[in-house]
Amino acid sequence: MAMAMTPRSQPALAADSSASRAQRALARYFGPSRLKVDPRDCESYRRDASEVEGLLPAAVVLAESVGDAELALRAAAEAGVPLVPRGGGTGKTGGAVPLLGGIVLDLRGLSRIKEIDRREQLAVVQPGVVLSDFRAAVHVEGLFYAPDPSSRVACTLGGNVATNAGGPRALKYGVTGRHVLGLEALLPGGRRIFAGRRTAKGVTGYDLTSLLVGSEGTLAVFGELTLRLLPPPESTLTLLVPFQRMAQAAEAVGDIIEQGLGPSCLELLDARASGGRAALLPALVGPELGAAVQGTEALLLIEVDGSEAACEASAGRIRSACRARGAQDDRVASLAEQRERLWDVRANMSASLRRTAKYKLSEDIAVPRRQLGSLLDQLERLSQRLAVRSVAYGHAGDGNLHVNFLWDDEAEAPRVQAAIRELFQLTVSLGGTLSGEHGIGVLKAPYLPLEQSADLIELQRSLKQSFDPTGLLNPGKIFPPGSG
Ligand SMILES: Cc1cc2nc3c(=O)[nH]c(=O)nc-3n(C[C@H](O)[C@H](O)[C@H](O)COP(=O)(O)OP(=O)(O)OC[C@H]3O[C@@H](n4cnc5c(N)ncnc54)[C@H](O)[C@@H]3O)c2cc1C
Repeated sequence: MAMAMTPRSQPALAADSSASRAQRALARYFGPSRLKVDPRDCESYRRDASEVEGLLPAAVVLAESVGDAELALRAAAEAGVPLVPRGGGTGKTGGAVPLLGGIVLDLRGLSRIKEIDRREQLAVVQPGVVLSDFRAAVHVEGLFYAPDPSSRVACTLGGNVATNAGGPRALKYGVTGRHVLGLEALLPGGRRIFAGRRTAKGVTGYDLTSLLVGSEGTLAVFGELTLRLLPPPESTLTLLVPFQRMAQAAEAVGDIIEQGLGPSCLELLDARASGGRAALLPALVGPELGAAVQGTEALLLIEVDGSEAACEASAGRIRSACRARGAQDDRVASLAEQRERLWDVRANMSASLRRTAKYKLSEDIAVPRRQLGSLLDQLERLSQRLAVRSVAYGHAGDGNLHVNFLWDDEAEAPRVQAAIRELFQLTVSLGGTLSGEHGIGVLKAPYLPLEQSADLIELQRSLKQSFDPTGLLNPGKIFPPGSG
C-alpha cells in the first residue's frame, strides 16, 4: 500500500511534453538495446523494495559503461527532466523510485570488478557489481569485504555506497562508508571527479568521499568505487540465545557491549508466539530448538570471529553474560553447525514477515544501546494503545532496530501512520536517529525536522544546490516535501 506522502494520487505518466523531451534527448545517444521507453518495460522501475510508488518513467537507460551514464546525465540536462540512479532496487525508503518520473538510470550493467590488489588490500569496481558476487570474488583472492547487508544477493555496491548500507557485521567492521577509500562521481552537467584515494591513509582537502557516501543518489552518480579489503577472519562461531523476556535480551545486549566482549554480530529477534510471529519460529530454529524457544519473547543471534581460541573464549564470556540475564545457556552450544541456515533465515526475516499481513511498513531507527530496553518497552505500549501490530528485530548491537508495522485492513493505515510518527518522536527523545542504515529516501523525508535543525537541513540543501544546481538529480528524496 502506498503511503500518503507518495504520489499515488497523481497520474501514472509524467506530463507528456517532458516525457517526449526526455525520450528525444536520449534517442540521440542510445539505440533500443540500451534505451527502454515502452511503458511495459518501464513499469517495474516505479518501485523499489519499499512501499513507495513513483510515476512511470519516461525512459530507462540500461547503462553499460561510465560513458553511457554520462550521456544519460547529459540528456536529462538537455531535456530538463529528473534522472534517478538505480542499482539493485532493494532500497527500503524509495530512494531509487522516480517520484516525478523522468529518466531512470539502471547501473546494473556496470558490473566489472576491475582490480583486486592483494598487496594494497583494495579493489576497484564498477557500481553495478552485486555484493555477493563481489564478496565471492574477493574470497577467492584470500581477502574479505566486510559490509554484508542482508540483501547481498541483489543489492549493488553502488547502491550500498549511496545508502551507506550496514548489515549485521557493521557492529565490528563498521558500515559501508568505512570501507570506501575513493570514488569516481559523475556530477549533473557532465563534470567527472575522483574523490578520495588509493592509499591506506590520506587527508587532502575536504572529505568529499564521506559526503558522497550515503547521499542517496542526490549529489552524483558513482561510476567507479575504490574499496578497502581485509584479511578474512580465521574462524567464526554463531550462537542462538533464547530469552523469556524481551527486556532480558535488551539488558544482555547492553552487558555484552559494556563488557567489551567483541561480537562481530549481535542481532535481536522478536520471537513472541502471537499472530504471524509464531510462524517464524520453526523455520528459524528447526524442529529440535523450535520446542525449546516456544514461549520465549526474544532471541539473540550472536557471532564472534577471530582465531579459534579467541572465538571460544569470547563465546564463553558471552554465554555467561547472557546467563546472568536469564538465558537458558544449554540451548546455545549445539547451534554452530546451523550457522548458514540461521543467517539465511535472518536474511529472509523481512520477506517472511511480509507474508504474514497484507500491508507492512518497516522502519530502521537506531538508539543508544542503553536505551534499547526502554524503546522496546515503549514500542509495545504504543502498539497496544494504538491497536497496531509491530514486530521488532535487527542489529541490536548497534542499537539499530527494524520496527515492522503489519496490518490487513486499509482502515488501519491512519493508526499505523500515527504509530510511525510516535516511534520517530520516541526515538529522537531517547537520543536516537530516524535511520540506522536504510537512509531517508522518500518515506522518512517528512520526518527529517524531528531530528535535524532547520539550519542543518538548510546547509545540506545548499550542498545539494552546489552539486546539482538544477535539482534534476533524484528529486524528492531526503528533504521534507514543500520545504523549499
Ligand atoms: C531483504 C532485504 C534486506 C536488506 N538488508 C539490509 C541490511 O541488512 N542493511 C542495510 O543497510 N540495508 C538493507 N537493505 C536495504 C538495501 O538493500 C540497501 O539500502 C542497499 O544498499 C541498496 O542497494 P541497491 O543496489 O539495491 O540500491 P537501490 O535500491 O537501487 O538504490 C538505493 C539508493 O542508491 C542510489 N544509487 C544506486 N546506485 C547508485 C549509483 N551508482 N550512484 C549513485 N547513487 C546510486 C539510488 O538513487 C537510491 O537512492 C535490505 C533490503 C532488502 C530488500
